Amino acid sequence: MSPIKSGLPDLAIFGGKPAFDSALHVGRPNVGDRRALLKRINDLLDRNWLTNDGPLLQEFEQRICGLIGVKHCIAVCNATIGLEIVIKALGLSGEVIVPSFTFVATPHALRWHGVTPVFCDLDPDTHNIDPLRVAELITRRTSGIIGVHVWGRPCDVGALADLARRQNLKLVFDAAHAFACSHEGRMIGGLGNAEIFSFHATKFVNTFEGGAIVTNSDELATKIRLMRNFGFAGLDTVMSLGTNGKMSEPSAAMGLTSLESLERFIKVNRRNYHLYQQQLTKVPGISLSQYQEDEKCNYQYIVLEIDEAVAGINRDMLDDILWAENVLTRRYFYPGCHRMEPYCSADPQAHLRLAQTERLAKMVLCLPTGSAISSAEITAICALIEFVVKHAEAVKQRLSMRPLFPHPWKSGSSQEPLI
Ligand SMILES: *Cc1c(COP(=O)(O)O)cnc(C)c1O
Repeated sequence: MSPIKSGLPDLAIFGGKPAFDSALHVGRPNVGDRRALLKRINDLLDRNWLTNDGPLLQEFEQRICGLIGVKHCIAVCNATIGLEIVIKALGLSGEVIVPSFTFVATPHALRWHGVTPVFCDLDPDTHNIDPLRVAELITRRTSGIIGVHVWGRPCDVGALADLARRQNLKLVFDAAHAFACSHEGRMIGGLGNAEIFSFHATKFVNTFEGGAIVTNSDELATKIRLMRNFGFAGLDTVMSLGTNGKMSEPSAAMGLTSLESLERFIKVNRRNYHLYQQQLTKVPGISLSQYQEDEKCNYQYIVLEIDEAVAGINRDMLDDILWAENVLTRRYFYPGCHRMEPYCSADPQAHLRLAQTERLAKMVLCLPTGSAISSAEITAICALIEFVVKHAEAVKQRLSMRPLFPHPWKSGSSQEPLI
């Protein structure tokens, strides 16, 4: 690591040596106690029980129920299939209102089942779906709302629940970011008709690939359990349409091991967040999205908003500069789902009603955090950002005289290394 820059030529984008010798990623896996994991894997091999409602899966589901205080947990092979199963089990059809500022899995799960996602604008303070805008989008074809707790910060659950009740709509939350977070003192997971967590390798608790559906409804849980396993109620009895959404035993082993380190992962993320916060408050035009610390937070994402009018450089410039230094920042959720296919062809005018989403998608930059990054590295990243903003005018001038940074992973000419 050689983070100190004394002049513009020291910046890697202008030919200097990158600040970091190896890449710092957003969303590197948190791995808990490797020996505990390997013991569980050994045990499941000894039992010769690899999947299909095994003992590790059952233990994992019970642990989540206890942790979240929710009646039912149905672990699944990933959150996208989890969303799809919930969509089927609730009988969503016609149109469902969703944010555009989310990972594309949220609208894809709907569209895959022939339901039209109707994109809704966000509240710029919370980055979450704005209930007033949701209300304007309800039509006779609307069957539900899927809120996303973006960055683990809860949606305006009260307003959305009121709206859903008044209009007789189903309410689902994509809680992929919000495992172990609370809303008004209550753990996220028991809200709406159902909520879905993701335990993908990049999320803060992981099962390699995986997710979980949580709900307090007995009836819905029964339906979802059947659907997760092709609709099988017994060896030869199929009760409903279903799919294969099962979580395997090795995944549950990783999940249980992850849960044992949950408090440590949160502590590391909290430390990282406070370090970034302390060091970035003094940088004009760069604001760090705040967590509400009187609630339970997992501090999973470090989210900057770059205001070009104040910082002197824009988000894309800072992104390119940091990539050149080997800090692989991410522009989540640029450009917004409404600008991705098949949605932009289906509704090319959607951006006109998504002004806040459009604005935010151009300002946001996520920085590396998690157990794979050290305090010294965070301090070095902050010093880099401070340096760039301090010399913004000169940096901008120099950037305008050269082609855009052609990083092979960004241009799609080479694959990002595996998780
Ligand atoms: C990660 C993520 C998903 C998808 O989760 P998988 O487990 O990878 O299918 C869905 N929605 C959001 C908001 C996500 O961040």
